[in-house]
Amino acid sequence: MPDNQDSRFDEFVFSQSALQDYADCPRRFELQYLLDVRWPAQETAQALQYEAGQQQGQAFHHLAHQHALGVPAEALTPTITDDELRVWWQRYLHWQAANLPDERYPELTLTASIGEWMLMAKYDVVAKLTDETVLIVDWKTGRPQKRDWLANRMQTLVYPFVLAKAGDWLNGNQPISPERIRFVYWFAETGETVEFLHTADTLQQAETRLTSLLQEITASSRFELTTVERRCRFCAYRSLCERGEMPGDLDELEDEELPDGFSLDLDEIEEVSF
Ligand code: SF4
Repeated sequence: MPDNQDSRFDEFVFSQSALQDYADCPRRFELQYLLDVRWPAQETAQALQYEAGQQQGQAFHHLAHQHALGVPAEALTPTITDDELRVWWQRYLHWQAANLPDERYPELTLTASIGEWMLMAKYDVVAKLTDETVLIVDWKTGRPQKRDWLANRMQTLVYPFVLAKAGDWLNGNQPISPERIRFVYWFAETGETVEFLHTADTLQQAETRLTSLLQEITASSRFELTTVERRCRFCAYRSLCERGEMPGDLDELEDEELPDGFSLDLDEIEEVSF
C-alpha cells in the first residue's frame, strides 16, 4: 500500500456511513472518503421529491433536537408548516413522552478505539432510563425498514459497540453492561419501532465483524466497483464509473426490498450529499 494511504488511515475516524459505503461499494468509499471526489449528479430521477424528503428529515431532526434541549413542544409546534412533518411531530411527541426520560442527550457524538483504529457514532438521542438501561434512539424519516435489513446495517453494529466502549460517563464512570444497552429505530412515517437488544456475545460478534472489515479496508490497495450494479442507479458517481447516465427512480426504490443493503438514507444527507 502506498505510504500516503497509510497516513490517511492513521488519522481516519471511521463512521457507520463510511463503513456502510465500503460494504455497499468499495469504490464509493474510496471516492468519497479517501479521494474526496465531489461529482455533480442527481441520485434519483425525482431530484425535487428527494430533496424535499431530505429537507423534511432535517427539519424533523432539528425539532427533536430543540425539544431534547428543553424548548417546549408548545413553542415548537406552531413553527411547523408542512402537513406531513406535523403528523410526524405528533407521533414523536406521543412516543417520546412514553419512552424517554426528560434527561436525554441529543446529537451526541462518541468515539472509541477498536484495535488500532477509531470508530465514531453520532447518535440522535441517548438516554439513561430509571431501570439503568441506556437507550439509543435513531429517528428515521425515510420509509420503514424490515428488521432483517436493519440487522445487517453498519449502524446497528457500530452504535451499541461505541456506546459500550465510550459511554462509561453515563453510568457513574463504570462500564455499561451489554444487557443494559437497547437500540431503537423509530420510524416517523408509521410510529413503528425496531429494537435491538444486546449481550456480551452480540457485542463481541460486532467487534469481530468490524475489526475484520477495518483490516480489509486498511489493507486494500484497490477499491473495486460494486458488482451489484443496481446500486449504481442511485449513486452520484455513476457517470464517473461509467455505470450509466440516468438516475434511478425513487418510486422504484420505494417498492424494492433492497435485500443486499443500500446506503441511500434520507437521514444521512450531511454525510452522503455531494
Ligand atoms: S456508481 Fe456504482 S461502482 Fe461507482 S461508486 Fe457508485 S455504487 Fe460504486
